[in-house]
Amino acid sequence: MTREAALKDLRETPRTQVLVIGGGVNGAAVFRDLALQGVDCVLVDSGDWCAGTSAAPSRLIHGGLKYLETGEFRLVAESTRERNLLLGNAPHYVRPLPSVVPIHSYLGGLLASLRRFFGGKAELVDRGLLIVELGMVLYDLFGARHRAMPLHRFALRRKVRRTFPRINSSVVATATYYDARVSHAERLVFELIDDALRAHAGARAINYLAATGFAGGRVQLTDRRTQAVLEVQPDIVVNAAGPWIDRVNHALTRPTHYIGGAKGSHVVLDNPELRAQLRDHMIYYGGSDGRVCLIYPFFDHVLLGSTDIPVKDPDSVVCDPDETAYMLSTLRDVFPDIAITPEQVIYHYAGVRPLPQADATAPGDVTRDHSLEKNQVAALPIYSMVGGKWTTFRAFAAETTDTILTSLGRKRHRTTEFEPIGGGRGFPKSDGERIDWIARFSTQYGVPPARSESLLERYGNAADRIATAGGNGFSESLASLPDYSRGEIQALIRAEQVVTLADLIFRRTSIAIAGQLTLALIEELAEIAAGALNWTSAERERETAEVVALARDRHGVRLPSPAVLEKI
Ligand SMILES: Cc1cc2nc3c(=O)[nH]c(=O)nc-3n(C[C@H](O)[C@H](O)[C@H](O)COP(=O)(O)OP(=O)(O)OC[C@H]3O[C@@H](n4cnc5c(N)ncnc54)[C@H](O)[C@@H]3O)c2cc1C
Repeated sequence: MTREAALKDLRETPRTQVLVIGGGVNGAAVFRDLALQGVDCVLVDSGDWCAGTSAAPSRLIHGGLKYLETGEFRLVAESTRERNLLLGNAPHYVRPLPSVVPIHSYLGGLLASLRRFFGGKAELVDRGLLIVELGMVLYDLFGARHRAMPLHRFALRRKVRRTFPRINSSVVATATYYDARVSHAERLVFELIDDALRAHAGARAINYLAATGFAGGRVQLTDRRTQAVLEVQPDIVVNAAGPWIDRVNHALTRPTHYIGGAKGSHVVLDNPELRAQLRDHMIYYGGSDGRVCLIYPFFDHVLLGSTDIPVKDPDSVVCDPDETAYMLSTLRDVFPDIAITPEQVIYHYAGVRPLPQADATAPGDVTRDHSLEKNQVAALPIYSMVGGKWTTFRAFAAETTDTILTSLGRKRHRTTEFEPIGGGRGFPKSDGERIDWIARFSTQYGVPPARSESLLERYGNAADRIATAGGNGFSESLASLPDYSRGEIQALIRAEQVVTLADLIFRRTSIAIAGQLTLALIEELAEIAAGALNWTSAERERETAEVVALARDRHGVRLPSPAVLEKI
C-alpha cells in the first residue's frame, strides 16, 4: 500500500485498538508484538522510522558491563539475555563483538567500586585488575542463559603488547569479553515494522504523521508532508516517543515530566592505522574523567563514542566540536603514538537518551532501566515507554504488550523470544550454508558471488525480496557506487516506505554512515527516487538540497562545493 492509500484508509477507518506513537525501536517492537497477537494497531511517527534516538546509539547490543558498578543486576540480567536472543533472531545484523578493557593497575578502584555498589557516591576513574575480574565473572554468570558466546579471558602485559603493539605502555593487562553490535540499526527497526504489516492485516504504519492533539476521544494526527489533519480513534495509546514523550503527552492534553534527556554523540573516523590496530575488537576504556568510552571497527572505518550531556530540547541535536575534541583526546590516551586528528572525522551523529527524570549529579549515574507509566485522558489510557536500551527493545515491548492484552481482556498466544526478524529468518547458520546460499543466489539472479555475498551482508535472507522487486535493473550497477544497483535502490524506495531522499540515504541504506556519500551519488539517487516516486524537477532539487544540507550540517560530511549548493 502506498502512503497515500494508507492515509486514505486511516481517514475512512479511524477506529483501532491501539495507537502507537513513535516509530523508534521501542514503538516498532510494540507494534510488531501487538500485530503478532492479532491486535489491530496503528503506528505513526512524526518523521521517518528510526530517525530519532534509535539512529544515534553506540550500536552495541550489550549486557551493560558498566551497570554492574551501580548494582543494576535486573537490567544486566535482562540485557545479557536479550543480547543472546538477538544474536539468534537477527543474525544478519547482530554479530558478536570481542571487547577489550585495558587495565592500568591491579587494585585500583576497589574502594570506590564497593561504595558505588552499595548505593554510595564515588568517582570511579581507575578500574584495576581485581575489580574488572569481579565484574567479568558476574557478567559471564548473567550471560549464561541462552549462552551464545565464549567466557572472558585475561592477558598480561607481554601478551597485550603482542596483540595491540600500539596500545599505551601503561596498560598492565587486558580483559576480553564478548558483547554484540548491530550493523544496520535503522534497517532492523524497519524490518520490525515490515514484519508486523506482513503478520496482521489490521496493522497499519504511516511515517511523517505526528500526534498533535486530542479532542472528543480522538487523537489528532498531522501529516508532516501536507499539514493535513486527520483523526484516529483508539482504545489505548502507547506513547513511545522517546525523548519527546512529555511533549506528546502535552499534545494529548495530559502533561507529564517523565524524561530527563542526556545528549550523546559519536564520530566515525577514517584512520586505517587505528582500524588495523583494533583487529576487529572493541576497546572499552575509561577516559581520564572516569566516563566509559568505546571504539570499534565500523564498515571500513572506526566508530568512537560517546558523550553524556544533559539537554532540555531533543530537537536537532548535533555533535559539537567540543565533544569531538573530548572523544579524540580520550582516544589519544589509549593509542598515544597513533596520529588522531579532527580531519579524520568523516561523519558524526548525536541523539538524546530518553532517560527518566532523576536528580543524579552526572547523567552517567541515571538508570538505563525502563518503566511503563500510565496516565489517562478522558477514558483513553496512555502508556508511556520511559527509558530503556536498544538492546532490550523486545523485552520492553513484551512487557508493554502484556499490559495492553490484559487491558483488552486478551491472552498472548505467541512469544517473540525466538521470533526471527526480517532478513534474519532463514539466514545461513554455518559456513557451509553460507556458501550454498551464495551459490544459489548467484545462479538464481545472475550476479557474481562477491555481489551475492555483499547483498547477504546488507539484507540477510531478505536479499531475495529485493532482487525480485529489483527486476531488470537489479544487475545494473550505479555509476557512482557500483556496489549498489539501480533495481536494488528502486526496490527499497517502492517497498520500504521511502518518502524523502534522506530516508533512502540515511536509513534504508548505510551509504551515509559508511562514509560513501558523494555529490554525484546523491544526484544519481535523487534521479532514481524522482522516477520511482514521481517527483517534479523542483521536488527533486529540493530533496537533493535537503540531503546535502543534512549531511553537511548534522553529520559533518565534507562535500565538495557543488552546483547544487548554489541552487539552495
Ligand atoms: C548516545 C547514545 C548511545 C546509546 N548507545 C546504546 C547502545 O550502544 N546500546 C543500547 O542498547 N542502547 C543505547 N542507547 C539507548 C537507545 O538508543 C535508546 O534507549 C533507544 O533507541 C530509545 O528508543 P525509543 O524508540 O524509545 O526512542 P526514539 O528512537 O527516539 O523514538 C521515538 C520516536 O518518536 C517520534 N516522535 C516524537 N514526537 C512524535 C509525535 N508527536 N508524533 C509521532 N511521533 C513522534 C520521533 O520522531 C522518534 O522517531 C544509546 C542512546 C544514545 C543517545
